[in-house]
Amino acid sequence: MKNQLTCDQVSALLSFYAEDKLSAKLSEYVRQHLESCPACMEKYIQMKNMLNKFMDIQNEEIENPYATKQYEDFKANLSAYVDNELNNFESIKIKKIAISNPLARQDLENIYTFKKLLHSSFEKTKNDFKNDYSRSIICQLQHENTDEKRLDPFYKLTAAFFIMITCIVAVLIRFLYF
Ligand SMILES: [Zn+2]
Repeated sequence: MKNQLTCDQVSALLSFYAEDKLSAKLSEYVRQHLESCPACMEKYIQMKNMLNKFMDIQNEEIENPYATKQYEDFKANLSAYVDNELNNFESIKIKKIAISNPLARQDLENIYTFKKLLHSSFEKTKNDFKNDYSRSIICQLQHENTDEKRLDPFYKLTAAFFIMITCIVAVLIRFLYF
């Protein structure tokens, strides 16, 4: 397989892979890496468990006594709260619900843990590269199959040829006129 991903590349793509948001081709490369790399597989399992737990809680709440109208409001505002997009009054309301409702508290903990996990998998690559790392990997993989690489040696050869011709002409001029 010529398109081998590195562990760093897989880390950056893992959350997209877990949520099935990658192209078929890219997701196949990640899958192949995971099969041969226990360290990345471990990370993937952790992330997948976290996602599943989050889903389970969303499903369980139907029969749960804490699944009230208030809790519905809480869920609707949760991501805005985590991203600091609520005003003071609204975020105090969210905090109060989180304190009194174990279901809400669990959601809040999960979302923070999940965010931390996402953050840690991106932090490293963010420090290494200023631009969007995942996007650069995708671009890189898309360009690998084009003619770009075959053209490169051709340009080098052409340049070398012109330098050679220039040298020969320079030597000839020297012999003819001096
Ligand atoms: Zn790996």
